[in-house]
Amino acid sequence: MPDPLPEPADSPSTLSAEEEGARAAASLAAVAADIRARGERAGGPAKDVLEAQAFMAEDPTLSEDVTGRLATGKTAERAVFEAFAGFRDMLIGMGGYMGERATDLDDVSQRVVAHLLGVPAPGVPSPDSPFVLVARDLAPADTALLDLDKVLALITSEGGPTSHTAILARDKGIVAVVGVEPAVNLKDGDPVIVDAATGTVTLSPSDEELAAANAAIEARGSAIAAPTGPGALADGTMIPLLANLGSAAAAAGAVEKGAEGVGLFRTEFLFLDAKSAPTVEEQKAHYVAVLQAFPGKKVVVRVLDAGADKPLTFLNDAPEENPALGLRGLRALRAHEQILRDQLTALAQADAETESDLWVMAPMVSTVEESRYFTNLAHELGLKTAGVMVEVPSSALLADRILADADFASIGTNDLTQYTLAADRLLGSVAPFQDPWHPSVLRLVGEVGAAGAALGKPVGICGEAAADPQLAVVLVGLGATTLSMSPAALADVRAELLKFTLDQARAFATVALAASSAAEARAAVHAASDAILTAPSPTESESNGARS
Ligand code: PEP
Ligand code: MG
Repeated sequence: MPDPLPEPADSPSTLSAEEEGARAAASLAAVAADIRARGERAGGPAKDVLEAQAFMAEDPTLSEDVTGRLATGKTAERAVFEAFAGFRDMLIGMGGYMGERATDLDDVSQRVVAHLLGVPAPGVPSPDSPFVLVARDLAPADTALLDLDKVLALITSEGGPTSHTAILARDKGIVAVVGVEPAVNLKDGDPVIVDAATGTVTLSPSDEELAAANAAIEARGSAIAAPTGPGALADGTMIPLLANLGSAAAAAGAVEKGAEGVGLFRTEFLFLDAKSAPTVEEQKAHYVAVLQAFPGKKVVVRVLDAGADKPLTFLNDAPEENPALGLRGLRALRAHEQILRDQLTALAQADAETESDLWVMAPMVSTVEESRYFTNLAHELGLKTAGVMVEVPSSALLADRILADADFASIGTNDLTQYTLAADRLLGSVAPFQDPWHPSVLRLVGEVGAAGAALGKPVGICGEAAADPQLAVVLVGLGATTLSMSPAALADVRAELLKFTLDQARAFATVALAASSAAEARAAVHAASDAILTAPSPTESESNGARS
């Protein structure tokens, strides 16, 4: 994706003010038309946002300002840049909602200057053939609008592997590899190989590498075509495989891929652009839609998880120096209890109108008291099954006390890893620390698994770790009773679980816990699973014995 354009030079124009005026007017009109056309194509709320942006390019006060600057001998590029910058400063000065429109104005300014210069406009390009989108970073709103038929994969040079850009992309079924710093050097048209399974990108691949990648794509085609069915281990132990969803629209795709229910419905993605808290009615419609897609099945809905990279202005818009450690998740909801009550009420009403098995859970619970507060309130408002996410080490360490009251726990390994290893999940420079294979994270998962087993309470995993097939087996060995993941990962995890028994999964967990680093844990489990898969079966060894 193109970088922002540099500021146009303030050197005198060689054209007349009238000629520059005609250029500026033509570019402003072309950009307004282009933005409006994009809005028509996107539809929904994006249409209104883009319509408002088109009006910015058509604002008569702005074009008067440009004309005034052209009269002093400036180029159209410079006059447009300065005029927009003036309006931008004015909006910022007004603050609040108007201040937030400043970035929209910057975007229009960049597009007009790009049009004048005859260079591609910044933003997501839209070539005619499918492509791999490379960007420094992508806002969740841009990610949500990506064209699934065109974008084969998304690579960003910034951001961590569990940033919400990556999660939203996966929710749409787009492969996303983030935090690939050398990707900034890629030029338009350079070939790349993106391996979704390992999260790696090969820049400038050789012919051999390209041939191997194409062969792997063919082989994977047959794995995806393998029959779907309930998740189970080789000994018949059932491990329900559930989907992580961010919208009701993604439900059909998840059902198609064999999701046995929903293990995490991220409700905040429904309201990322909302300026005020959604009403009970508005929310209920979304919840009914997702519940109807899973009749008779379990659907775990998480109440709003605002904060850090998912700001919801109506819940907490106070600037914080460390938002990941701030008033987020359940803490923010508790500070606005009516919003939490409304959401639980909407969920209870949706549950009453549908056939599925609705469970609710709270994000970012860090104390036993918070857990009790949430589960009591949810029960009081008519929800049958109320649990908590274990995303903070304190909750994992006191899981026995939390599960004494809560109906279930669901481990969010993305945040649990971020908080255990003190590595911001959005920061590319610390991305190597964001590895859920780290034995410290696995030990915490084991604490929750043991507490769940002792108290007979379900323990799910809903972080991205569940989507790593080999790690999924380890998590089951540590006591996970269900696994929830991006629907695209279901087939591979299902196939891997079928290869091992519960005893073998537990043996892998022991091996991983004994390691001193994530890399060691991964390598040790890999070796242990290879040893099982390549060992001769009892019948084979008997017949070998008979021959010798
Ligand atoms: C997690 O933290 O693992 C999780 C599932 O929640 P989110 O990624 O939405 O923060
Ligand atoms: Mg989380």
